[in-house]
Amino acid sequence: MAVVRCVQCMSVSREGYRIHAEPIGYPEAGVICGMPGCERPGLVWMRGREAMEYVQGSKTCFPLNAGKRPAKILVKLSE
Ligand SMILES: [Zn+2]
Repeated sequence: MAVVRCVQCMSVSREGYRIHAEPIGYPEAGVICGMPGCERPGLVWMRGREAMEYVQGSKTCFPLNAGKRPAKILVKLSE
């Protein structure tokens, strides 16, 4: 599942996430980095199959890693 992290936090703990996408409306949309204490605008980071589907342009809606019934977020198309 995708996670939301700002660039600074993700540069510290990559956790295998190499591909990122901008949420629709980024950076004004109010999607905030998931690290405790951080309030910077977040990018959507993905890995594995989701990253592949995003790069291929077939997926732009991602569930977020946030508990049993995660929210989903739309991202801008892969360039
Ligand atoms: Zn952050």
